[in-house]
Amino acid sequence: MNYLRARTVEEALARLGAHPRPRIVCGATDVFADATLVPSRFEWLDISRLDALRRIERGDGMVSVGAACNWEAIAGTPWLPASLTQAAGYVGSRQIRIQGTVGGNICHASPVADGVPALLSLDAQVELASLRGVRRLPLADFVLGSGRTALHADELLTAVLFALPRTQDRTAFVKCSNRDGPAIAVVSAAVHLRLCARGTVRAAAVAVGGASEVAVRMRAVEAALLERRCGDAIDALALASFDELAPIDDCRGTPAHRLHLARVAVMRALAHCIEDSAHGASIA
Ligand SMILES: Cc1cc2nc3c(=O)[nH]c(=O)nc-3n(C[C@H](O)[C@H](O)[C@H](O)COP(=O)(O)OP(=O)(O)OC[C@H]3O[C@@H](n4cnc5c(N)ncnc54)[C@H](O)[C@@H]3O)c2cc1C
Repeated sequence: MNYLRARTVEEALARLGAHPRPRIVCGATDVFADATLVPSRFEWLDISRLDALRRIERGDGMVSVGAACNWEAIAGTPWLPASLTQAAGYVGSRQIRIQGTVGGNICHASPVADGVPALLSLDAQVELASLRGVRRLPLADFVLGSGRTALHADELLTAVLFALPRTQDRTAFVKCSNRDGPAIAVVSAAVHLRLCARGTVRAAAVAVGGASEVAVRMRAVEAALLERRCGDAIDALALASFDELAPIDDCRGTPAHRLHLARVAVMRALAHCIEDSAHGASIA
């Protein structure tokens, strides 16, 4: 039999530590769509029923989202940062959101994965387990390129971790697609903004997806926003450098179009954060 549905994390890790190494499958929404992955040619390890990987927890200011959490559960958790719940709500149709998981989204490492920019802007880390132990890596160091990650062959992504934004912080996610309704992003952007009481930007984290081989933290944009008052922040953004992007070229958009959309998406996400802050909307 070339298929094992793991009942515990320990069983999954034991199988990943043995040969021949299985391929991990969770919601199968990316795996199923890959014509090269003929089911009978590979060993499969199904982790979709591992309750330990389906928890969304918070404690000591930290959030842990289990790798097998689906997008519907994430979108429906009101205390999670708005950027993450908004990104979750944009993934595919409801069927895809019920089936697809955050771990699968990260490990598939598509340049247009909706979850990655939101998590990058939250400075998320990934937790990786194997029989050798557990290690943590910044998400930015985990996704190496289109379809490439730092996951070792015997490792399982078990959770995504990040600090819960402060009460006065604001976050937002904007997705630009070529049509209304469920559609893959051309470009997406996530912003995590910390404003002081007088409306000055104290800290900003900005990430853009779909405009490079991997989603990118926009350090020059973040620097341009620092210490700006809200109204000035939008103006500063219009002049900020987007040179950190190396836009991809495919059927969904040319590099020039993607570069244009990146600025628009960041501008809109920033504006959402500022508006939420002005209206005293709750976290984050
Ligand atoms: C019709 C359709 C629409 C879609 N729309 C969107 C969209 O709008 N936005 C978007 O971002 N994505 C979209 N997707 C892609 C996909 O649904 C998401 O990326 C989803 O989150 C993948 O999760 P999964 O559990 O189904 O992954 P799977 O297909 O099970 O796995 C994907 C990859 O990750 C690996 N993997 C999975 N879990 C782990 C783990 N815990 N540890 C290590 N490796 C792991 C697998 O081995 C595989 O290589 C769409 C897909 C389809 C088919």
